[in-house]
Amino acid sequence: MRMIRRLFSVLLLIIVLFFALNFSWTHAGVAWLMTKSQCPAKLVALAKKDVATLFGNTHSSPLWVCTTKPLLGLDISHATTRSALFLPSIIVIGKKGPRRNVMAHEHVHAELAARTSARYALVPTWFDEGLAMQVDYRRLYTRKALARYLGRKGVQKPRLDDLAFSYRFYMRGKARLHYAFANCVVKYWLKSQGKTQPLKLINNMNWHKPFPIEQFRKFERKCLKI
Ligand SMILES: [Zn+2]
Repeated sequence: MRMIRRLFSVLLLIIVLFFALNFSWTHAGVAWLMTKSQCPAKLVALAKKDVATLFGNTHSSPLWVCTTKPLLGLDISHATTRSALFLPSIIVIGKKGPRRNVMAHEHVHAELAARTSARYALVPTWFDEGLAMQVDYRRLYTRKALARYLGRKGVQKPRLDDLAFSYRFYMRGKARLHYAFANCVVKYWLKSQGKTQPLKLINNMNWHKPFPIEQFRKFERKCLKI
């Protein structure tokens, strides 16, 4: 009996630790449990369709939360995707988010997380965002917008190597430039490599090989000259 109690305590501790370590997922998970507002089914279906077109099919079944006001401290203007190992991603859609572009974009993050599992940690932010932009046609992130951002006086040209981590990618005042840049690089890469390329790259990713950034260098240079 004592043995069972000890085992139970250890199991409980592991579960608590898991959810504590995945705090951002847990936070969204509680919001998902508490919210009663459903995301528009039509938009969810369209987002899934766009992801299936990009990847060939879908492996992910994210949980959707649509909220028009802050929910348990989650104050999201557009959208966010929270992922955790072994669990479905949770997509939180804010007041400005219930649109096909935004929802498809977030679903790509969930799809990439599902397909890479623990290897998601190896995906540089610029690639994750650049891929998500392939189903997101907002004018702020087009090539035309990129040319405008790059033409600004004193702008510091982005480099893929500097945008591997989120804290740099989402830097205040530079995020739009980075999204447009990542969009451009991944778009040219997809055009040159063909539709199955994202799957090939994702399937070949492993812990012993660095992310194949060299494949993107040519397009990095091209996008900076736009
Ligand atoms: Zn994104």
